[in-house]
Amino acid sequence: MQASTQASRPSACPGLMRIVPARDGGLCRVRLAWGELSAAQARAVAEVSQAFGSGVIDVTNRANLQIRGVQEHSQDALISRVVSAGLGPATPGADDLRNVMLSPLAGLDPDAVLDVTPLASVLLDQLQSDARLHQLSPKFALMVDGGERLSMLDHPHDVWISAVSAQRFAFGLAGCPPRFEHDAPALAVLETAHIPALVDALLHTFLDLALPSQTRMRDLLTTCSIEEILGRVQDKLGFPLDHDVENWRRPASDARLRFGVHRQGTGDSVCVGAQAPLGRLSAATLSALADLAPRLRMTPWQSVMLLDVQPAAAQAVVEQLAALGLATTPDEPFARLIACTGSQGCAKSFADTKADAHLLARSMPPMGDVHLSGCARSCAAAHPVRTTLMAVAPGRYDLYGEAPEALARHLTIEQAACWLARSPLDA
Ligand code: SF4
Repeated sequence: MQASTQASRPSACPGLMRIVPARDGGLCRVRLAWGELSAAQARAVAEVSQAFGSGVIDVTNRANLQIRGVQEHSQDALISRVVSAGLGPATPGADDLRNVMLSPLAGLDPDAVLDVTPLASVLLDQLQSDARLHQLSPKFALMVDGGERLSMLDHPHDVWISAVSAQRFAFGLAGCPPRFEHDAPALAVLETAHIPALVDALLHTFLDLALPSQTRMRDLLTTCSIEEILGRVQDKLGFPLDHDVENWRRPASDARLRFGVHRQGTGDSVCVGAQAPLGRLSAATLSALADLAPRLRMTPWQSVMLLDVQPAAAQAVVEQLAALGLATTPDEPFARLIACTGSQGCAKSFADTKADAHLLARSMPPMGDVHLSGCARSCAAAHPVRTTLMAVAPGRYDLYGEAPEALARHLTIEQAACWLARSPLDA
């Protein structure tokens, strides 16, 4: 396999943001608070991607952006421009832990329990300002759920808090708010005003107890019981946790709401959602999106929502999104396909998953989601996908359903498309 094109050294920019090496050049992660950026910030990202990178920008499944192909001699200039655009961390050392995950409709859904963006801002400040919390893994994530109709409830989070009412939140560890009877219940409920203290106690307890090899809450739970963690958390708090929450279940979320035109809050504006094919945008496309709306939100489905669109312009915006190549309805192939970076950007990949996914899109059956992965790490799928094509060689994949055994092996993309067309897997 081809070697990485860059030496394994982080950017020299002191402490603010890192650029990590990848097969296609440097990779700059631009973490966005709740996936949001202004049109001006989107244009800034597009410009630096064009000037200092390959002009390729990925939307991640944590609703962040990745600028790909950054030239080594341009790293400091790129970071300086990104930070100048207001997209860097508030304090040095805090960039990696800005993983406060919200619904793409947070603060915008008139049917949500409440607007959690003020609370999330407090928690984000807390994470950035407490130097000890900078020890948390870049993957450690906190979900703040306002009960919106659109929310990613399949990605496990290290800590989740979810609005039970405007005054009270439930919380849990290493998972998601429970929706179904068989889901693990919430651990306790508490007043909204007590959430910052709870989060502080949970994160410090994690750091107190976790072994160096335990970077995620699920790792800690293999050696430490929930009861011990909650006991230590309770000791740090000046109020009792209410554990009478066994029967609470969060209302369902509808992932299809990430497409199309939706009422935004209680005002006149609407938001418009569409899916970037395989989560990838060109600099030109991102710039064009910035011309369509004053605010953009990336989503954990690697899609985009345009905010503050005037209702009279909404249909034209949908048409322009389609003209830019984005999927605007949930049934289109690119609304149902995900693929990891693949061999163009990752030395671990056995195949060019992105190119193969484009090939598959031409002959996708009308139903079902498909995930193409370059290796068993499955970076693109933070949630279960019913059908996975696992690369084993260039252009060749093993096909998996929900069971651990492969259903078919060494398929070409054309053979996989035929297999999917006749399979009842996703019917
Ligand atoms: S799934 Fe494997 S091949 Fe794909 S990006 Fe992750 S590590 Fe690379």
